[in-house]
Amino acid sequence: TQSTQPQRILGAVQKNATRGDPRSVVKAIDQYCRNKEWAMNVGDEKGCILDSVVSEVNPSTVLELGTYCGYSTVRIASLLPPNAKLFTLEFNPHNAVIARQVIAWAGVEDKVQLIEGASGDWIPKMKEHYGVKTFDLVFLDHWKDRYLPDTKLLEECGLLRKGSVLLADNVIFPGAPEYLEYIRGNQRYESCFFKSHLEYTKALDGLEKSVFLG
Ligand code: SAM
Ligand code: MG
Repeated sequence: TQSTQPQRILGAVQKNATRGDPRSVVKAIDQYCRNKEWAMNVGDEKGCILDSVVSEVNPSTVLELGTYCGYSTVRIASLLPPNAKLFTLEFNPHNAVIARQVIAWAGVEDKVQLIEGASGDWIPKMKEHYGVKTFDLVFLDHWKDRYLPDTKLLEECGLLRKGSVLLADNVIFPGAPEYLEYIRGNQRYESCFFKSHLEYTKALDGLEKSVFLG
């Protein structure tokens, strides 16, 4: 039987990355996806912007929407301060199985709680189920038509505090126009765009960073 892309990405990690070295995991995935086959990881160029936002926010509690193979999960987790927690949501069980192994290979499993399920089901359960008060940082990188409803859900569930940062990938390509219109036209957010390129290509894309003002 044929392998899946997530299995091939895991294979590249096991072959080329050092156990317990998150940066080598990131590098192995980038090399594989740049040279062998394109994949929907945030990638190295936008990944540097992601890194700088994580470092700036220095979050204790992070939510990632869309894990895929755990590439951005490893990037974020490797930059977190001690005792911080990253919750990452993935509704495709096959992707989740692979991501768990990538996260473990990187040695960041202590910082990561991978939750298998749909964002719309899990966001309302984060308080009671995991004791989360609010998220310091939310990385939106799941299906683009969920950015807006899930942002409204985070607001309704009281999971954002004054100063919480939303960072949304792919706001130009594939694009999240309804989200951008909402977040940029909203007095409760201060928003700015980081121009970049779609992962592993020269196509225009970027990240939108939005600070919730409460
Ligand atoms: N953040 C990852 C990275 O940069 O390495 C890439 C995530 S990929 C672009 C999007 C992932 O979100 C897919 O694996 C998909 O199965 C998952 N997904 C899409 N909609 C979702 C939802 N509503 N809830 C949970 N996972 C979702
Ligand atoms: Mg993306």
